[in-house]
Order: sequence, then structure tokens, then C-alpha cells
Amino acid sequence: MSLLSVEEARARILSHLQPVHSENLPLEECARRVLAADIAAPHDFPPFDNSSMDGFAVRAADVVDAAPASPRTLSVVADIPAGVSPGVHLLPGQAARIMTGAPLPSGADAVVPVEETDYHERAPGAPLPNVVQVYKAVKPGDSVRARGMDVQSGQIILQSGQRLRPPDLGLLAMFGMAQVQVYRRPRVALLSSGDELLPVQAALQPGKVRDSNTYTLSAAIQETGAQAIQLGIAADRLEEVEALLEKAAAQGVDLILSSAGVSVGAFDFIKQAIEKQGQLTFWRVNMRPGKPLAFGEYRGVPFIGLPGNPVSAFVGFEVFVRPALEKLGGLRLAVRPRLRVRLAETVESDGRESYLRAEIREEHGALTARLTGHQGSGNLLSLVQGNALLIIPPGVKSLAAGEEADAWLLH
Ligand code: AMP
Ligand code: MG
Repeated sequence: MSLLSVEEARARILSHLQPVHSENLPLEECARRVLAADIAAPHDFPPFDNSSMDGFAVRAADVVDAAPASPRTLSVVADIPAGVSPGVHLLPGQAARIMTGAPLPSGADAVVPVEETDYHERAPGAPLPNVVQVYKAVKPGDSVRARGMDVQSGQIILQSGQRLRPPDLGLLAMFGMAQVQVYRRPRVALLSSGDELLPVQAALQPGKVRDSNTYTLSAAIQETGAQAIQLGIAADRLEEVEALLEKAAAQGVDLILSSAGVSVGAFDFIKQAIEKQGQLTFWRVNMRPGKPLAFGEYRGVPFIGLPGNPVSAFVGFEVFVRPALEKLGGLRLAVRPRLRVRLAETVESDGRESYLRAEIREEHGALTARLTGHQGSGNLLSLVQGNALLIIPPGVKSLAAGEEADAWLLH
């Protein structure tokens, strides 16, 4: 059992994982899903020259000298609401009333906003006038959205491996993509282990605690876009652990995730059960909390064993399982953004890469971090009360108040 750096352990896990298959889904089911193919625009956008204002389509050359004191009079030859084909060609001296989004008629090269014409003074809904007085000069292209000015046909507008956000879905709709190729959601079987664990409904009993990890971890799994399949609690007996692992394998999951039973002495059953149908390596990772970590496979399904303490399990999830699920889910791997924060108090570590629960606030224009309580790995409340994990690099044992550190924002 060697001592690995966090980086090395994560890289080893990721090197064993391949993205799941993709599926073709209706656009309305694609929010937060991960694209499985690059998307090229099938046409220009805007698809035709159109007006960005309600006003009058004109030939700019006709109104070069227009001003409030010397308006230009044009004859109005057409009315172009949005959604129609214009069907006219503007000749010199002519204008067409036009609505926002309506196609520019041929011959026109600019739009005069209605506010810059005498028509603006008419009552709302006034009939189409025969002539319009233009009070302001416009240049070719003014108030016109030219065909292709936003997107050109063939341009890559979204990339494989990106998560679809609300405007991405709008963009796909804009281009008529009613079906989209996305990665299917990874499925994760989740199990807890330990004779001391009670289900959430149970009354406390001497020596027992409730299984909180199932709830923390399944919510965290779902937050990544994966599906959690809760298998419940295995007592510290080989047959029980085996039964849950078999159940996981039978469900065709993409990852089996357990918590507890990987620290020294206690892990034998998980180890034995997995080694009967697969293989398992225990690592000691140079981190705090959560030094013990198990990784392997059971009947060909990747397995990660997190430590049991509630904070260690969560930190292990953030450090190892989240990136694993992102890779399984087809997400292009990105370095998680870190904030640079100022410490409000002195922070101690033991030289391992440490993830400390903290609250980050803006104080006097600077992001300032305070620990949210004692850093015992069972102190889940301190995680609940924090909004970040401070990351103290390996080899550092103390950082003084006023010094800076990196942090991950949580939640
Ligand atoms: P272990 O890794 O089995 O030695 O467990 C370490 C600590 O984590 C013990 O105090 C366990 O009671 C606690 N623990 C293990 N699993 C869970 C769980 N699912 N929910 C809450 N606490 C747990
Ligand atoms: Mg245990």
C-alpha cells in the first residue's frame, strides 16, 4: 500500500474509465445533458436580412440629408409585418413600413426607426400612410440584422463534451435541432457498509448511527447529472456485501460506489467480496480528510470505495468521484476553478493536501475565508455551515491569518 498524491490517484482512476454510450433525445429532455457530437449550423443566422426596429425600410441614399428641420418625404409602397415574405422591391424615393424581425425588402439597405418619422406622432394603429417624413439620416446597414451576421452556415456552434445550458438549448432550437445526440446519464450503484448503521427511519439505538452517506452521496451523484441507485446498507459480513455487489452488477451500472470499510482492519469484507469477482487496490492518498481510498472493478464494473466518515466521504466524492462521473458522462475534462481567498485566521495542516471546511465571504472588497468548526472528519455540520473547501497544498503545515489560499466553492 503506497502513499499516492491526490493528483496521481485521480489520474489512475480516470485512466480506467471510458465515457458511456450516447442516445438521441428530444430537445426538451436535453437540459443539463452532455453533447455527444459537435453541432454545425445548418444555415446562416439570421437566415435573411431583417429589421431590428419597428420603422420604415428605406434606401439610405434617399435620406442622407434628412434632419428635423429638413425632413425627406418618401412614398410608402408596402407594409411588411414579421413572418411574411416582403414581395416588393424598393425604388428610389420609396419606403416600406416594417416591423422588428420582418425581412428587409430588396432595394432597401437600412431602416429608419419609427421614432425618427412623422408616423410616430400618429395614434397607435393608424392606417398605413401614403407618405412618410423621415427626420434623420441613416447609413446603409443601420437597424438591419444582416443574414449570417451572428452565425454562418457550417460554423461549429456547440462542441461535443459540453453540458447543455439554457441558451444552448435555445441555440439548438434556433437551428431546428429537434433531436440531439447526448451521452446517456451514468448509473451509479451506491452502498453503505457497517454494523453500526441504521436506516434513516430507525430510532437511535446504543452504539448505532444513521446512514447519512447514502443521502449525501446520492444527492451529489445526481448533481453531476448521473443517476444514483441506492442499494442500502451491508452489514459487516461477507455474504451481505456480496449480495449488494451482485445486485449492483445485475443493474448494469457504470460505477459502484461504497462508503466505509476501507480503513485499516475493517475493510476485509469489501476487499474479499470484490476480489472474488474482480480486483481491488487500496491506496493511501496523501490527503486529509480521507486518506484511505479503494479502487478496482467488480464483474468488470469500476468500483470506488470512499472512507466512511461523513466529511471524508464527501471530500472523497468531490476529489475523485465527481471527476470520474464527469468522464463517464462524456464531459470534456476541465480543471475545477479555484478561488484565491484571504485567510481570516491561522490555519493548520499536517503536511498532507488538506481540504478544510470554510465559509467564504466578501469583506472589505476581498474574499475572506473562516473555518466553520473543528475539522474532525465526522463533523458534518461544519460542512453544512461552510460554502467552500480550502485547499492547503501538500508540504504546508501552517498558513497565517492574512495569507492567501486556494478554495473550491461548494453547493
Ligand atoms: P469505517 O470506514 O467503516 O471505519 O467508518 C468510519 C466512520 O464513519 C465510523 O465512525 C462510521 O460509523 C462512520 N460511517 C461509516 N459509514 C457511514 C454512513 N454511511 N453514514 C454515516 N456514518 C458512517
Ligand atoms: Mg465500518
